Amino acid sequence: MPLGEFELIARYFTRPARRAVLGVGDDCALLAPTPGMQLAISSDMLVEGRHFLKTVAPDALGHKALAVNLSDLAACGATPLGFTLALALPCVDEVFLAGFSRGLFALADAHDVELVGGDTTAGPLVICITVFGEVPPGQALRRDGARACDDLWVSHPVDGGLGDARLALEAFRGHVDLSDAEFTRARRAMERPQPRVALGLALRGIAHSAIDLSDGLLGDLGHILERSGVGARLDYAALPRSPMLAAQAAALQRQCLLQGGDDYELLFSAPPGARAAVLRAATTGGVAASRIGVVESIPGLRLLEPEGKVSTMSARGFDHFRDSGVTP
Ligand code: ADP
Ligand code: MG
Repeated sequence: MPLGEFELIARYFTRPARRAVLGVGDDCALLAPTPGMQLAISSDMLVEGRHFLKTVAPDALGHKALAVNLSDLAACGATPLGFTLALALPCVDEVFLAGFSRGLFALADAHDVELVGGDTTAGPLVICITVFGEVPPGQALRRDGARACDDLWVSHPVDGGLGDARLALEAFRGHVDLSDAEFTRARRAMERPQPRVALGLALRGIAHSAIDLSDGLLGDLGHILERSGVGARLDYAALPRSPMLAAQAAALQRQCLLQGGDDYELLFSAPPGARAAVLRAATTGGVAASRIGVVESIPGLRLLEPEGKVSTMSARGFDHFRDSGVTP
């Protein structure tokens, strides 16, 4: 007999409540945010065949489902408190559930964030997480705060850059040949993104605007520009890239860097006087930050090419209804 719904929840998704007043098991969970703080809330859904490939290891999927949600809290400069998990499962596969919950809770523990409830049903594999965080009033990092003359910054691993997740996707599609070591590394970037929560917190009071990179640099920058009513100039040569990506053909590099998707780094703007503070915040966050352009009052997105020419770009990222294919 396969596990029933409630045994499944009890075995794989129930742990003693820590910070929550009431966790899994009742009609509602109860959270007690710090008095005076604002709640930051975000949901992200992962659908098999669209956001991830069948080949992904269950623990990597558990990690990523929570990581993409924590990344939204990071982009707002919010401290994670708790999350709910809504799951549709085609069948009760205990090997899958054990791996998935292991990956999920490992990342949850790393960020001291608690699973407080959810919903479980049969259906095509869909994972929807809603995260709750808190932020002091007026201090959330937002998309609409960029100002002309701000520097544009992007976070990245100290030894890496943007675009490695997209490179892994291209390798899965057979469009590029990577060595085993490179493929392992690119796949790690795609399947195990690290939400930049500590950086987001450290940028409160420093950054004027922020967003996390999920749909590609150009598209996500476009959201900041549109919401802030400004334009920008990006310096292509300044975009951070791993040695592995830098070794690829120019057109592929460009696609991965500008339209990659799934980077889960923070893109933010800050005044030029805050450069030292930004670099300190990056160190606090355990990452590097590169200055990749400047906000301008003239609307539109311009790209300074490596050879010195300036191209006008369309700021469009991945769109689930216009673009087809899988974006793991
Ligand atoms: P209700 O019928 O009141 O909506 P359910 O029977 O769906 O509650 O769920 C029972 C309890 O288990 C609730 O506390 C709910 O939050 C929790 N729960 C259900 N699915 C999950 C899950 N995937 N992860 C964590 N908690 C869950
Ligand atoms: Mg109920």
